[in-house]
Amino acid sequence: MTEPIKTDALIIGAGPCGLFAVFELGLLDMKAHLVDILDKIGGQCAELYPEKPIYDIPGLPYVTGQGLTDALLEQIKPFGATFHLQEMVEKIEKIGDPEFRVSTDQGKVFECKVVVIGAGGGSFQPKRPPIPGIEAYEENSVFYAVRKMEQFRGKRILIVGGGDSALDWTLSLAPIASHLTLLHRRDQFRAAPDSVNKMMALVGKGKIDFVLGQVAALEGEGGRISKAVVKTNDGSDFHIACDALLPFFGLTMKLGPVASWGIEMKDGELIPVETASFETNVPGIFAIGDINWYPGKLKLILSGFHEAALMAQKAHRYVFPNKRLVFQYTTSSTSLQKKLKVK
Ligand SMILES: Cc1cc2nc3c(=O)[nH]c(=O)nc-3n(C[C@H](O)[C@H](O)[C@H](O)COP(=O)(O)OP(=O)(O)OC[C@H]3O[C@@H](n4cnc5c(N)ncnc54)[C@H](O)[C@@H]3O)c2cc1C
Repeated sequence: MTEPIKTDALIIGAGPCGLFAVFELGLLDMKAHLVDILDKIGGQCAELYPEKPIYDIPGLPYVTGQGLTDALLEQIKPFGATFHLQEMVEKIEKIGDPEFRVSTDQGKVFECKVVVIGAGGGSFQPKRPPIPGIEAYEENSVFYAVRKMEQFRGKRILIVGGGDSALDWTLSLAPIASHLTLLHRRDQFRAAPDSVNKMMALVGKGKIDFVLGQVAALEGEGGRISKAVVKTNDGSDFHIACDALLPFFGLTMKLGPVASWGIEMKDGELIPVETASFETNVPGIFAIGDINWYPGKLKLILSGFHEAALMAQKAHRYVFPNKRLVFQYTTSSTSLQKKLKVK
């Protein structure tokens, strides 16, 4: 067996909640390692909406998904957490009271006192629309997320969908596209009414097109689309010339191995926790952020931050059973300021 990496806490998921957990654990002297399937840090914020603004992070009136990730990384720097990217946690075994052995699909093994599951919706994947042969164009001309807006400058863009992502990206990309069409199968949307109004205003000014229908086929060569064949609701066909197709049909949250870790689950996809410390039914295993469930749960980043703070208080009892925990403010505690390397 590979030599185990010993740590106080093993955090599964390097999304915003996993990152903030490093901070809260660090303030209480607990060291953490983080494992994430993605090749980047930041979870949904970095993977799905790095350039989109978030407006409801306390104290930050405006921050993009990537901006928040960068700020969290800066904030946790003093605690020197180790990241293990592109690895999936496959197995958690209980080896003590509490103590766990956690293994990844890359053969890495961790031994830790506490496990913090910050796995969000698991390994999330965009839903692929039922267009024959679409796979051949993926990554070249078909994109399920916008990583770099600049990539679309001067392009003829076809956005498909009627939810928030479709509408938000229509508004964001319209100014830089050479031509943009929003295609939706009906004229009702599942998006914020304000976004719908703004989109309609652009249509009214002739800046973008809005078309009712569905993509039936794609035409192009060498992975590059030249046109989409669109079937309208009355059964007729026509072509939309485009360089990029962005389908926003929502995400399939593939939970992955979480359900096989022997932890109680709710509806097969969420982990019930108590709300004093966000511990699961297994002592020493916590769940924070989008993956957990309790009455009134809101899947917001700020909820996960609060959960991380309370989780760390209880984790401290397991990691340092003989140490008394004294509540302190970062503003006034010299000891906390030393840990934060500001004193
Ligand atoms: C378009 C969009 C806009 C949003 N806007 C807002 C907003 O304005 N305000 C707000 O508060 N929230 C917003 N959210 C929701 C917010 O992004 C989530 O609440 C937040 O990302 C949850 O953080 P998390 O750390 O719990 O999980 P995630 O961000 O989902 O991160 C979980 C990580 O765990 C990893 N993982 C899962 N299983 C494993 C495994 N077995 N092994 C290793 N790694 C694993 C995943 O790869 C992922 O990186 C938005 C979401 C989307 C999609």
